Amino acid sequence: MFKTFLIKYAEIGVKGKNRYLFEDMLIHQIKHALKKCEGRFDIHKTQGRIFVDALTEYDYEEVVEHLKKVFGIAGICPVVCVEDEGFDKLCETVVDYLGKTYPEKHFTFKVNARRARKNYPKDSMTINMDMGEVILNAFPDTRVDVHQPEVMLNIEIREKIYIYSIIIPGPGGMPVGTGGKAMLLLSGGIDSPVAGYMIAKRGVKIDAVYFHAPPYTSERAKQKVVDLARIVSEYTGPIYLHVINFTDIQLYIHEKCPHEELTIIMRRYMMRIAEHIAKETECLGLITGESIGQVASQTMMSLMATNEVCELPVYRPLIGFDKEEIVEVSKKIGSYETSILPFEDCCTIFVAKHPVTKPNVNIIRRHEHNLDEQIEELVKTALDTEELIIVE
Ligand code: ATP
Ligand code: MG
Repeated sequence: MFKTFLIKYAEIGVKGKNRYLFEDMLIHQIKHALKKCEGRFDIHKTQGRIFVDALTEYDYEEVVEHLKKVFGIAGICPVVCVEDEGFDKLCETVVDYLGKTYPEKHFTFKVNARRARKNYPKDSMTINMDMGEVILNAFPDTRVDVHQPEVMLNIEIREKIYIYSIIIPGPGGMPVGTGGKAMLLLSGGIDSPVAGYMIAKRGVKIDAVYFHAPPYTSERAKQKVVDLARIVSEYTGPIYLHVINFTDIQLYIHEKCPHEELTIIMRRYMMRIAEHIAKETECLGLITGESIGQVASQTMMSLMATNEVCELPVYRPLIGFDKEEIVEVSKKIGSYETSILPFEDCCTIFVAKHPVTKPNVNIIRRHEHNLDEQIEELVKTALDTEELIIVE
Protein backbone atom coordinates (compact mmCIF):
# COMPACT_ATOMS: atom_id res chain seq x y z
CA MET A 1 0.00 0.00 0.00
CA PHE A 2 2.82 2.44 0.86
CA LYS A 3 5.23 3.65 -1.80
CA THR A 4 6.49 6.60 0.23
CA PHE A 5 7.83 7.28 3.71
CA LEU A 6 7.88 10.71 5.28
CA ILE A 7 10.89 11.05 7.56
CA LYS A 8 10.49 13.26 10.61
CA TYR A 9 13.51 14.70 12.31
CA ALA A 10 13.33 16.71 15.46
CA GLU A 11 16.55 18.07 16.73
CA ILE A 12 18.20 18.83 13.42
CA GLY A 13 15.27 21.03 12.54
CA VAL A 14 16.61 23.75 14.79
CA LYS A 15 20.16 24.10 13.53
CA GLY A 16 19.68 27.45 11.80
CA LYS A 17 21.94 28.10 8.86
CA ASN A 18 23.62 24.71 9.15
CA ARG A 19 20.34 22.94 8.81
CA TYR A 20 20.94 21.85 5.22
CA LEU A 21 24.23 20.17 6.23
CA PHE A 22 22.35 18.07 8.76
CA GLU A 23 19.61 17.25 6.28
CA ASP A 24 22.09 16.30 3.59
CA MET A 25 23.99 14.06 6.00
CA LEU A 26 20.74 12.45 7.10
CA ILE A 27 19.83 11.77 3.46
CA HIS A 28 23.29 10.31 2.93
CA GLN A 29 22.88 7.99 5.92
CA ILE A 30 19.39 6.92 4.83
CA LYS A 31 20.77 6.07 1.37
CA HIS A 32 23.53 4.06 2.98
CA ALA A 33 21.10 2.18 5.22
CA LEU A 34 18.73 1.35 2.37
CA LYS A 35 21.50 0.01 0.15
CA LYS A 36 21.24 -3.17 2.22
CA CYS A 37 17.52 -3.49 1.44
CA GLU A 38 15.91 -5.09 -1.55
CA GLY A 39 14.52 -2.60 -4.08
CA ARG A 40 15.49 0.86 -5.30
CA PHE A 41 14.65 4.10 -3.54
CA ASP A 42 14.71 7.79 -4.23
CA ILE A 43 15.45 9.96 -1.21
CA HIS A 44 14.88 13.68 -1.48
CA LYS A 45 13.97 16.70 0.55
CA THR A 46 11.32 19.32 -0.06
CA GLN A 47 10.33 22.17 2.21
CA GLY A 48 11.83 20.84 5.41
CA ARG A 49 10.67 17.30 4.82
CA ILE A 50 12.59 14.22 3.74
CA PHE A 51 10.80 11.65 1.64
CA VAL A 52 11.81 8.11 0.76
CA ASP A 53 10.08 6.94 -2.43
CA ALA A 54 10.18 3.28 -3.37
CA LEU A 55 10.85 3.01 -7.10
CA THR A 56 10.40 -0.75 -7.18
CA GLU A 57 8.84 -3.52 -5.11
CA TYR A 58 10.36 -3.67 -1.63
CA ASP A 59 9.98 -5.37 1.73
CA TYR A 60 8.15 -3.00 4.08
CA GLU A 61 9.38 -4.63 7.30
CA GLU A 62 12.97 -4.68 6.10
CA VAL A 63 12.94 -1.00 5.15
CA VAL A 64 11.38 0.03 8.47
CA GLU A 65 13.94 -2.06 10.39
CA HIS A 66 16.80 -0.32 8.60
CA LEU A 67 15.35 3.17 8.95
CA LYS A 68 14.93 2.58 12.69
CA LYS A 69 18.73 2.44 12.92
CA VAL A 70 19.45 5.78 11.26
CA PHE A 71 20.31 8.39 13.88
CA GLY A 72 18.60 11.72 13.24
CA ILE A 73 15.25 10.14 12.42
CA ALA A 74 12.58 10.95 15.01
CA GLY A 75 9.71 9.27 13.21
CA ILE A 76 9.03 7.14 10.16
CA CYS A 77 5.64 7.74 8.57
CA PRO A 78 4.41 5.44 5.84
CA VAL A 79 2.33 7.76 3.66
CA VAL A 80 -0.17 7.44 0.86
CA CYS A 81 0.74 10.01 -1.76
CA VAL A 82 -1.79 11.02 -4.40
CA GLU A 83 -2.23 13.67 -7.09
CA ASP A 84 -4.76 16.41 -6.39
CA GLU A 85 -7.87 15.27 -8.23
CA GLY A 86 -10.41 17.26 -6.27
CA PHE A 87 -11.79 17.00 -2.74
CA ASP A 88 -14.28 14.19 -3.44
CA LYS A 89 -11.55 11.99 -4.81
CA LEU A 90 -9.38 12.81 -1.78
CA CYS A 91 -12.22 11.73 0.53
CA GLU A 92 -12.47 8.42 -1.30
CA THR A 93 -8.74 7.86 -0.90
CA VAL A 94 -8.86 8.68 2.81
CA VAL A 95 -11.78 6.33 3.48
CA ASP A 96 -10.00 3.59 1.57
CA TYR A 97 -6.78 4.26 3.54
CA LEU A 98 -8.53 4.12 6.92
CA GLY A 99 -10.44 1.01 5.90
CA LYS A 100 -7.24 -0.85 5.12
CA THR A 101 -5.16 0.50 8.00
CA TYR A 102 -7.69 -0.04 10.80
CA PRO A 103 -9.62 -3.28 10.34
CA GLU A 104 -11.67 -2.57 13.49
CA LYS A 105 -13.44 0.64 12.56
CA HIS A 106 -13.93 1.59 16.15
CA PHE A 107 -11.46 4.40 16.84
CA THR A 108 -11.57 8.01 17.93
CA PHE A 109 -9.90 10.35 15.49
CA LYS A 110 -8.96 13.85 14.56
CA VAL A 111 -8.27 15.20 11.09
CA ASN A 112 -5.18 17.37 10.98
CA ALA A 113 -4.92 19.05 7.59
CA ARG A 114 -2.02 21.26 6.60
CA ARG A 115 -2.21 23.36 3.50
CA ALA A 116 1.37 24.04 2.40
CA ARG A 117 0.02 25.04 -1.02
CA LYS A 118 -2.21 28.02 -0.38
CA ASN A 119 -4.12 27.88 -3.67
CA TYR A 120 -5.96 24.75 -2.55
CA PRO A 121 -9.66 25.71 -2.63
CA LYS A 122 -10.44 24.74 1.01
CA ASP A 123 -8.56 26.04 4.04
CA SER A 124 -7.28 23.66 6.72
CA MET A 125 -10.19 24.16 9.10
CA THR A 126 -12.72 23.43 6.39
CA ILE A 127 -10.82 20.34 5.27
CA ASN A 128 -10.78 19.09 8.86
CA MET A 129 -14.53 19.51 9.27
CA ASP A 130 -15.61 18.25 5.87
CA MET A 131 -13.28 15.26 5.98
CA GLY A 132 -14.35 14.47 9.54
CA GLU A 133 -17.94 14.28 8.43
CA VAL A 134 -17.09 11.99 5.52
CA ILE A 135 -15.22 9.63 7.87
CA LEU A 136 -18.08 9.57 10.41
CA ASN A 137 -20.49 8.66 7.64
CA ALA A 138 -18.24 5.95 6.24
CA PHE A 139 -17.48 4.39 9.65
CA PRO A 140 -20.41 5.05 11.99
CA ASP A 141 -18.64 3.48 15.00
CA THR A 142 -15.88 6.07 15.00
CA ARG A 143 -15.90 9.28 17.01
CA VAL A 144 -14.12 12.60 16.81
CA ASP A 145 -11.82 13.39 19.73
CA VAL A 146 -9.77 16.53 19.21
CA HIS A 147 -7.84 16.20 22.48
CA GLN A 148 -6.61 12.61 22.62
CA PRO A 149 -7.51 10.90 19.37
CA GLU A 150 -6.48 7.28 18.86
CA VAL A 151 -5.94 8.06 15.20
CA MET A 152 -4.42 11.36 14.17
CA LEU A 153 -5.09 11.55 10.46
CA ASN A 154 -2.63 13.91 8.84
CA ILE A 155 -3.33 15.35 5.43
CA GLU A 156 -0.59 17.50 3.94
CA ILE A 157 -1.46 19.40 0.82
CA ARG A 158 1.57 20.20 -1.29
CA GLU A 159 2.14 19.73 -5.03
CA LYS A 160 0.85 16.26 -4.23
CA ILE A 161 -1.25 15.25 -1.24
CA TYR A 162 0.15 13.12 1.56
CA ILE A 163 -2.01 11.07 3.92
CA TYR A 164 -0.66 9.37 7.02
CA SER A 165 -1.61 8.38 10.54
CA ILE A 166 1.16 6.00 11.58
CA ILE A 167 4.36 7.32 13.12
CA ILE A 168 6.94 4.64 13.85
CA PRO A 169 9.49 5.98 16.36
CA GLY A 170 13.02 6.40 15.01
CA PRO A 171 16.16 6.28 17.16
CA GLY A 172 16.43 10.07 17.54
CA GLY A 173 19.83 11.69 17.86
CA MET A 174 21.80 13.31 15.05
CA PRO A 175 23.02 11.92 11.72
CA VAL A 176 26.38 10.19 12.03
CA GLY A 177 29.06 12.32 10.44
CA THR A 178 27.76 15.68 11.64
CA GLY A 179 29.83 15.53 14.82
CA GLY A 180 33.39 14.50 13.96
CA LYS A 181 34.96 11.16 14.77
CA ALA A 182 36.06 9.38 17.97
CA MET A 183 37.99 6.24 18.87
CA LEU A 184 36.08 3.62 20.87
CA LEU A 185 37.99 1.23 23.12
CA LEU A 186 35.98 -1.83 22.29
CA SER A 187 36.27 -4.94 24.42
CA GLY A 188 34.11 -8.03 24.35
CA GLY A 189 31.97 -6.87 27.25
CA ILE A 190 28.49 -5.42 27.57
CA ASP A 191 29.50 -1.84 28.20
CA SER A 192 31.75 -0.63 25.43
CA PRO A 193 29.40 -1.39 22.48
CA VAL A 194 26.71 0.57 24.32
CA ALA A 195 29.14 3.44 24.91
CA GLY A 196 29.95 3.54 21.18
CA TYR A 197 26.27 3.50 20.29
CA MET A 198 25.53 6.41 22.61
CA ILE A 199 28.25 8.67 21.27
CA ALA A 200 27.42 7.77 17.67
CA LYS A 201 23.84 8.74 18.41
CA ARG A 202 25.04 12.29 18.88
CA GLY A 203 26.28 12.34 15.29
CA VAL A 204 29.83 11.13 15.91
CA LYS A 205 31.48 8.70 13.54
CA ILE A 206 33.17 5.79 15.33
CA ASP A 207 36.42 3.92 14.85
CA ALA A 208 37.52 1.29 17.35
CA VAL A 209 40.55 -0.32 18.92
CA TYR A 210 40.70 -3.77 20.51
CA PHE A 211 43.60 -5.03 22.62
CA HIS A 212 44.12 -8.67 21.93
CA ALA A 213 46.43 -10.91 24.00
CA PRO A 214 46.98 -14.19 22.18
CA PRO A 215 47.31 -16.94 23.29
CA TYR A 216 45.78 -15.75 26.58
CA THR A 217 42.78 -14.50 24.67
CA SER A 218 41.49 -16.74 21.92
CA GLU A 219 40.66 -16.12 18.27
CA ARG A 220 37.05 -16.59 19.29
CA ALA A 221 37.32 -13.70 21.74
CA LYS A 222 38.62 -11.55 18.90
CA GLN A 223 35.86 -12.73 16.57
CA LYS A 224 33.36 -11.74 19.24
CA VAL A 225 34.72 -8.19 19.21
CA VAL A 226 34.49 -8.10 15.41
CA ASP A 227 30.88 -9.29 15.71
CA LEU A 228 30.13 -6.57 18.26
CA ALA A 229 31.69 -3.97 15.99
CA ARG A 230 29.43 -5.22 13.21
CA ILE A 231 26.33 -4.81 15.39
CA VAL A 232 27.37 -1.27 16.33
CA SER A 233 28.13 -0.51 12.66
CA GLU A 234 24.49 -1.14 11.77
CA TYR A 235 23.89 2.22 13.45
CA THR A 236 27.17 3.99 12.77
CA GLY A 237 28.17 2.89 9.29
CA PRO A 238 31.57 1.27 8.60
CA ILE A 239 33.95 0.97 11.56
CA TYR A 240 37.71 0.78 11.19
CA LEU A 241 38.69 -1.70 13.89
CA HIS A 242 42.35 -1.57 14.93
CA VAL A 243 43.42 -4.83 16.56
CA ILE A 244 46.51 -4.39 18.70
CA ASN A 245 48.54 -7.33 19.94
CA PHE A 246 48.95 -6.48 23.60
CA THR A 247 50.49 -9.71 24.90
CA ASP A 248 54.12 -8.66 25.22
CA ILE A 249 53.22 -5.38 26.89
CA GLN A 250 50.99 -7.19 29.36
CA LEU A 251 53.61 -9.82 30.17
CA TYR A 252 56.20 -7.14 30.65
CA ILE A 253 53.98 -5.17 33.04
CA HIS A 254 53.23 -8.45 34.84
CA GLU A 255 56.93 -9.06 35.25
CA LYS A 256 57.96 -5.59 36.36
CA CYS A 257 55.11 -4.06 38.34
CA PRO A 258 53.21 -4.90 41.56
CA HIS A 259 50.34 -7.20 40.74
CA GLU A 260 47.69 -5.16 42.48
CA GLU A 261 48.52 -2.30 40.10
CA LEU A 262 48.51 -4.44 36.95
CA THR A 263 45.08 -3.48 35.74
CA ILE A 264 45.60 0.24 36.22
CA ILE A 265 48.98 0.26 34.50
CA MET A 266 47.65 -1.90 31.71
CA ARG A 267 44.70 0.44 31.25
CA ARG A 268 47.08 3.40 31.12
CA TYR A 269 48.93 1.73 28.25
CA MET A 270 45.69 0.96 26.47
CA MET A 271 44.74 4.61 26.70
CA ARG A 272 48.13 5.78 25.48
CA ILE A 273 48.06 3.47 22.48
CA ALA A 274 44.43 4.24 21.68
CA GLU A 275 45.22 7.94 21.81
CA HIS A 276 48.18 7.50 19.50
CA ILE A 277 45.99 5.79 16.88
CA ALA A 278 43.21 8.31 17.47
CA LYS A 279 45.50 11.24 16.74
CA GLU A 280 46.83 9.60 13.58
CA THR A 281 43.32 8.98 12.29
CA GLU A 282 41.89 12.43 13.05
CA CYS A 283 39.72 11.33 15.95
CA LEU A 284 38.70 14.10 18.32
CA GLY A 285 38.33 11.97 21.43
CA LEU A 286 38.36 8.53 23.01
CA ILE A 287 35.30 6.58 24.19
CA THR A 288 35.19 3.93 26.91
CA GLY A 289 32.44 1.93 28.60
CA GLU A 290 33.50 2.90 32.10
CA SER A 291 31.00 3.63 34.86
CA ILE A 292 31.90 4.89 38.32
CA GLY A 293 32.47 2.12 40.83
CA GLN A 294 31.64 -0.79 38.53
CA VAL A 295 34.99 -2.51 39.13
CA ALA A 296 38.22 -1.65 40.96
CA SER A 297 39.64 0.05 37.88
CA GLN A 298 36.63 2.33 37.66
CA THR A 299 36.64 4.06 41.04
CA MET A 300 37.06 7.82 40.84
CA MET A 301 40.71 7.48 41.79
CA SER A 302 41.33 4.72 39.26
CA LEU A 303 39.64 6.75 36.56
CA MET A 304 41.84 9.69 37.49
CA ALA A 305 44.90 7.50 37.10
CA THR A 306 43.87 6.21 33.68
CA ASN A 307 42.69 9.59 32.54
CA GLU A 308 45.91 11.47 33.23
CA VAL A 309 47.85 9.76 30.44
CA CYS A 310 45.62 11.23 27.72
CA GLU A 311 45.43 14.66 26.18
CA LEU A 312 42.33 14.00 24.13
CA PRO A 313 39.01 14.15 25.91
CA VAL A 314 37.79 10.74 27.06
CA TYR A 315 34.05 10.32 26.62
CA ARG A 316 32.44 7.95 29.11
CA PRO A 317 28.75 8.05 28.29
CA LEU A 318 27.90 5.29 30.80
CA ILE A 319 29.58 7.04 33.71
CA GLY A 320 26.37 7.40 35.74
CA PHE A 321 24.61 4.25 34.55
CA ASP A 322 23.86 1.19 36.67
CA LYS A 323 24.65 -2.15 35.11
CA GLU A 324 20.94 -2.90 34.62
CA GLU A 325 20.49 0.30 32.68
CA ILE A 326 23.44 -0.57 30.45
CA VAL A 327 22.05 -4.07 29.90
CA GLU A 328 18.72 -2.56 28.91
CA VAL A 329 20.29 -0.45 26.15
CA SER A 330 22.46 -3.36 25.09
CA LYS A 331 19.36 -5.51 24.62
CA LYS A 332 17.63 -2.74 22.74
CA ILE A 333 20.46 -2.29 20.25
CA GLY A 334 21.02 -6.03 19.82
CA SER A 335 24.54 -6.43 21.24
CA TYR A 336 23.63 -8.18 24.50
CA GLU A 337 23.44 -11.76 23.25
CA THR A 338 26.88 -11.46 21.68
CA SER A 339 28.41 -9.64 24.65
CA ILE A 340 27.50 -12.40 27.08
CA LEU A 341 29.15 -15.19 25.07
CA PRO A 342 31.63 -16.71 27.50
CA PHE A 343 35.00 -16.04 25.86
CA GLU A 344 37.63 -14.65 28.17
CA ASP A 345 38.64 -11.07 27.47
CA CYS A 346 41.94 -9.34 27.81
CA CYS A 347 41.81 -8.63 31.51
CA THR A 348 40.60 -11.85 33.09
CA ILE A 349 43.94 -13.65 32.91
CA PHE A 350 45.99 -10.84 34.29
CA VAL A 351 43.72 -9.72 37.10
CA ALA A 352 45.13 -9.54 40.61
CA LYS A 353 43.27 -11.00 43.57
CA HIS A 354 43.23 -7.64 45.30
CA PRO A 355 43.53 -4.87 42.74
CA VAL A 356 44.05 -1.36 44.11
CA THR A 357 40.87 0.64 44.32
CA LYS A 358 42.56 3.87 45.41
CA PRO A 359 45.67 4.03 43.29
CA ASN A 360 48.08 6.80 44.10
CA VAL A 361 49.08 8.39 40.83
CA ASN A 362 52.58 9.22 42.05
CA ILE A 363 53.24 5.62 43.05
CA ILE A 364 51.82 4.32 39.78
CA ARG A 365 54.10 6.65 37.86
CA ARG A 366 57.07 5.49 39.88
CA HIS A 367 56.29 1.84 39.23
CA GLU A 368 55.88 2.54 35.55
CA HIS A 369 59.53 3.57 35.53
CA ASN A 370 60.33 -0.12 36.07
CA LEU A 371 59.27 -0.49 32.45
CA ASP A 372 61.63 2.13 31.03
CA GLU A 373 64.06 -0.26 29.45
CA GLN A 374 61.76 -1.93 26.94
CA ILE A 375 58.32 -0.40 27.00
CA GLU A 376 58.84 2.11 24.20
CA GLU A 377 60.06 -0.60 21.90
CA LEU A 378 57.14 -2.87 22.82
CA VAL A 379 54.58 -0.11 22.21
CA LYS A 380 56.20 0.66 18.87
CA THR A 381 56.04 -2.99 17.84
CA ALA A 382 52.41 -3.23 18.94
CA LEU A 383 51.56 -0.22 16.80
CA ASP A 384 53.59 -1.46 13.83
CA THR A 385 51.92 -4.85 13.86
CA GLU A 386 48.33 -3.67 14.23
CA GLU A 387 45.74 -5.47 12.17
CA LEU A 388 43.11 -3.24 10.58
CA ILE A 389 39.69 -4.78 10.03
CA ILE A 390 37.07 -2.76 8.19
CA VAL A 391 33.75 -3.77 9.64
CA GLU A 392 30.47 -3.01 7.87
P1 ATP B 1 33.21 -3.86 28.97
O1 ATP B 1 31.93 -4.49 29.37
O2 ATP B 1 33.05 -2.78 27.99
O3 ATP B 1 34.24 -4.86 28.57
P2 ATP B 1 34.16 -3.82 31.64
O4 ATP B 1 33.10 -3.57 32.57
O5 ATP B 1 34.63 -5.19 31.39
O6 ATP B 1 33.76 -3.12 30.25
P3 ATP B 1 36.90 -2.95 32.01
O7 ATP B 1 37.43 -4.25 31.59
O8 ATP B 1 37.42 -2.30 33.23
O9 ATP B 1 35.33 -2.89 32.17
O10 ATP B 1 37.12 -1.95 30.86
C1 ATP B 1 36.68 -0.64 30.91
C2 ATP B 1 36.69 -0.10 29.51
O11 ATP B 1 38.01 -0.19 28.95
C3 ATP B 1 35.83 -0.89 28.55
O12 ATP B 1 34.49 -0.46 28.56
C4 ATP B 1 36.50 -0.61 27.24
O13 ATP B 1 36.12 0.66 26.74
C5 ATP B 1 37.97 -0.56 27.60
N1 ATP B 1 38.62 -1.88 27.44
C6 ATP B 1 38.82 -2.84 28.36
N2 ATP B 1 39.44 -3.92 27.84
C7 ATP B 1 39.68 -3.62 26.54
C8 ATP B 1 40.29 -4.31 25.44
N3 ATP B 1 40.78 -5.53 25.58
N4 ATP B 1 40.34 -3.69 24.24
C9 ATP B 1 39.81 -2.45 24.08
N5 ATP B 1 39.23 -1.76 25.07
C10 ATP B 1 39.15 -2.32 26.28
MG1 MG C 1 35.65 -5.76 29.73
